[in-house]
Amino acid sequence: MRRTGILIRARRRPLRALAAAASVFAAVVAWTLVAGPAAAATAAGGDCALPRTSAHHSEGVDTWNAAFPRPSTVLDAVMIFLSFPDAVPDLTPEEVAADHFPATSLFYDRASYGRFQLRSHPVDRWIPMPRASTDYRIRRDWDADQRAAYLRDAIDAADPAVDFSAYDLVYLVADPDAPGVDADATKVVNLGTPMRADGTDLRRLVTVFEQHPPDHNVLAHETGHVFDLPDLYSRPAAGSDADWDTRVGDWDLMGSQFGLAPEPFAWHKWKFGWLEDHQVQCVSQHGTSWHELTPLETAGGTKLIVVRTGRRTALAIEARSATGNDAGLCREGVLLYEVRSNRESGEGPVTVLDGHPATSACQDGSAYPPLADAPLGAGESYAYDAGPGPRDGRLPLRGRLLGRQGQRGIAPWRRTGEYRGCPERGSKPPPSGRSRCSRWPARPPPGRRPPTPRRRRPGPARCARRRAPRCPRASRTGPRGGRAASSPRRPARCGP
Ligand SMILES: [Zn+2]
Repeated sequence: MRRTGILIRARRRPLRALAAAASVFAAVVAWTLVAGPAAAATAAGGDCALPRTSAHHSEGVDTWNAAFPRPSTVLDAVMIFLSFPDAVPDLTPEEVAADHFPATSLFYDRASYGRFQLRSHPVDRWIPMPRASTDYRIRRDWDADQRAAYLRDAIDAADPAVDFSAYDLVYLVADPDAPGVDADATKVVNLGTPMRADGTDLRRLVTVFEQHPPDHNVLAHETGHVFDLPDLYSRPAAGSDADWDTRVGDWDLMGSQFGLAPEPFAWHKWKFGWLEDHQVQCVSQHGTSWHELTPLETAGGTKLIVVRTGRRTALAIEARSATGNDAGLCREGVLLYEVRSNRESGEGPVTVLDGHPATSACQDGSAYPPLADAPLGAGESYAYDAGPGPRDGRLPLRGRLLGRQGQRGIAPWRRTGEYRGCPERGSKPPPSGRSRCSRWPARPPPGRRPPTPRRRRPGPARCARRRAPRCPRASRTGPRGGRAASSPRRPARCGP
């Protein structure tokens, strides 16, 4: 067996984009790639750009699927607020719009380094639907005919007030307090046959049924589907108690909507065109090559290293820091993940590799604590094996991350003296008490109320307030009546 080695080093490097005195560690990764068949020369993305396949929301990046709007410059989204005869809205359209904007626009502005602007255009009044909310039997796996009736009624009702030809995205936002509204039904509906309005084909509609306030980042997640991103969580079989977040955990908004590190993977930024060619380095030559990674959350520098491991598979490497959209992440460091462009949305197109398989972290905040400490710090290593030999186009690749002597653990991944990661069980809280780790409760100044905890996944208490269909039912098996990308709910965790 020929072997591949990776060395990772870290050094302190000031970044102008961060606040004064803040600095992060840039990772320097060296590959010693020893492949069986001669590999092509290193190119800017070219040899590592996995082909887009027929898989729904394929992770292929060689071409853009023109059926989806590409978030490259500016897109305009209309928000239509729907009321129903069986409920008088408790909230104003402005209050409901504020649940999602400007937060969603700011998320994409940060993630795209200012390259992409999502402009929201909320209609300033409730649009009355012709039928009671309960008539549509709204639920996660919605009957196709009922859903089609809802969409048709919504577009017809809004048409006098909305010029659909002026918008790239349509959010249909239901009155959160209407009795038939089920938050589990929030999703993007991709229409096999477009609906026509104002001379425009409407190919996909975002149906929003969120409570007030909504799930964290839920609209950013659904909007990611509009931009052809797949679900990265896995949906266990009906009746199973299996975890939904085993594949990517907190990482990327298309995993859990409660993830601590929702910044889109560098792979997704590459797909969108938010990274320049020189920011993606493809390793496809024999020998050793060195790469300096700058944190994904800040502009400039190399963001992604890719090693092609097969015709439709690649190993991706990026650096993550507790900045911007990732301000709440659990563990900084170099993150490794596998990408498969032939996997369907929700079927494992991305798998994060756990740099610390024996430990978990951020037990009380992470969507999936075993992967919360997945990134590698300086001085740590990871053995990667992409397969036993040439087979179906795969390279015989073995990887290993080797640390610099004398450096261990995540200590180098500290910043400005503040501990950025989360502690192992039994350790002492920092003197400042300012850690985000929920195991170390924040110590507010005397006389001030403690901060309200960030709302997490639906727990039993929330489920108890929900109508029965929102909690687990064995009938939840899969989308019906066509492809609909759903928000990552976890009914298995809800109470009975
Ligand atoms: Zn989804």
